[in-house]
Amino acid sequence: MKKLIFTLLAASIVACTPKVNDLATSMPIETNIDLVNVKNDMVHVSVDPGRFTAESINFYIPKTVPGTYSNNDYGQFIENLTAYDYNNKPLQATSVDVNTWKIDNATQLDRIEYDVNDSFDTEGEVEDPVFSPAGSNIEANKDFFLNLHMFVGYFDNLKEQSYLLHFKHPSGFEASTSLHKATTKTQEANTDTFLANRYFEVTDNPIMYSKPDSQTFSVNDIEVTLSVYSPNKVYSAVSIKNEMEKMMKAQKTFLGDINSTKTYNILLFLGAMEKGDPTGFGALEHHTSTTVVLPETMPKEDMVKTMTDVVSHEFFHIVTPLTVHSEEIQYFDYNNPKMSEHLWMYEGVTEYFANLFQINQGLIDEQDFYDRIATKIQNSKRYNDSLSFTKMSKNVLVEPYKDQYANVYEKGALIGMCLDIIIREESNGEKGILWLMKQLSREYGMDKSFKDDELFDKIVSLTYPEVRTFFNTYVIGDTPIPYDEFLNKAGLTFHTEEKETGFFLNGQIPYIDVNPQNNEIFVRKTALNSSMKALGLKSGDIIKSVNGTEFTMENIRNVIIGSMSWQPETDINMVINRDGEELTLKGKVGSPSIEVDKITKMETTTPQQDTLREAWLKG
Ligand SMILES: [Zn+2]
Repeated sequence: MKKLIFTLLAASIVACTPKVNDLATSMPIETNIDLVNVKNDMVHVSVDPGRFTAESINFYIPKTVPGTYSNNDYGQFIENLTAYDYNNKPLQATSVDVNTWKIDNATQLDRIEYDVNDSFDTEGEVEDPVFSPAGSNIEANKDFFLNLHMFVGYFDNLKEQSYLLHFKHPSGFEASTSLHKATTKTQEANTDTFLANRYFEVTDNPIMYSKPDSQTFSVNDIEVTLSVYSPNKVYSAVSIKNEMEKMMKAQKTFLGDINSTKTYNILLFLGAMEKGDPTGFGALEHHTSTTVVLPETMPKEDMVKTMTDVVSHEFFHIVTPLTVHSEEIQYFDYNNPKMSEHLWMYEGVTEYFANLFQINQGLIDEQDFYDRIATKIQNSKRYNDSLSFTKMSKNVLVEPYKDQYANVYEKGALIGMCLDIIIREESNGEKGILWLMKQLSREYGMDKSFKDDELFDKIVSLTYPEVRTFFNTYVIGDTPIPYDEFLNKAGLTFHTEEKETGFFLNGQIPYIDVNPQNNEIFVRKTALNSSMKALGLKSGDIIKSVNGTEFTMENIRNVIIGSMSWQPETDINMVINRDGEELTLKGKVGSPSIEVDKITKMETTTPQQDTLREAWLKG
């Protein structure tokens, strides 16, 4: 915890002018967020700083926040922004760009008021929507899922100032958050006041208001609270508590003695999959909490598996970037962000841990772990494999690198795996990448960052020259990783097999998708099965009809169900539109199959290979 910051300058002014204690630099920023008088899914906010001495001042809503690696312009959700002077008269507030407002006569500024829209509502309508776990939901009298960077802004030079956040909420609603309650003497009914020591803490602490549905459990010395909003009451906190507890205990055992938080909040929002519900599923890490957004329609088994994968990933972020990070992250600039070149570590190693701990702690078996790795290898091939990972990372906010971002969860994790295998091999199985990350977190930590271009040298100095060769060739360099070579060291082989699949569905994953703008059904950008290829289908083709039946949103289900009874000799006739040209494709259904990468144990292995594999998976 940090104490309130009173600058020396403020203290010295106190000595000479009696009125100074109302200065912006010595007052907490009072913020009122009204969750009761919600109009058109908008929440009214007022931000009241102390008195400014500068003639003009800028007010900002973030363009981006840590962990999202994309520019989202959260200012786009602000409406009716008005600045008021001390006589309650409007002051000139000029919009400089979508996220910035300039207030002239700032010495007269009392407060700024505005309305905030939610982002879940817009997800289906815009091209680059805000990722749901970084966004917000405003549903009067039901649920408020609030990432506070969308609601609370900051002023020039006041990012280190503390904030008092006052929430007025519907009666019966409770807050789920890692923010600390501030005790104020005159607390009104149905209001909560929280303290954030600086703007970063505002953005780092999401909050969910709803009718309470929480469960708390202890993982060693960490108190974990799971809060759930399930609109149709399909799930409750108690319905998945045991699985989450088991998973997080396994994580903590895997991590061992690493400094971490004392409280952790999981805020789970489940979407009903109807209009206005979120569509970007996943989670976003914060230092002491995580926001998770998933569909309520998921069956229990999938829900538990997904929560295990997703929440463990977010929790592992307490290692990196939360305690091992570069200056770019330490001094995060919300409106002019500089990216670090180390996404391979922040996201890649984190994702790798989220899989490794499950085999290490016996939550999954060996083949399951190999299948996960094989899937990552396969998925990584959808991206540019001959692109320097550090270069992509550094430029991830702009094209063409932007589209490569999601490879951090595939190739990024595989980079983590290869490093793990190298370090295990060189240390005779004694050390691995978890050991390395612990060394780094000891060396740096929450408040001490590294210089972006010094990290590789630091890691090599802690490990082996082979690690430098690996970085130079496959992470900084643009050579695709020969996974086979690394897996062989552990007595594993990597090969391709043909696997049966459905024509339109590969398991639960469809080969087709619907364009939300015009409801057209198109072939996804993914590896196609043998039957689709034989028919001449290509990714991007719009399917107009199948065997004379129009292919539309209304009958997509029926056509897909019908396709399940197709025989290899069934004739197929498909009218498609490719780049504006209508084509008819004809052929037989055949036996659809797809190439899958498979990792298996070699038939004969050496004792060294067995020792390495054992140390890698169970060490
Ligand atoms: Zn992550």
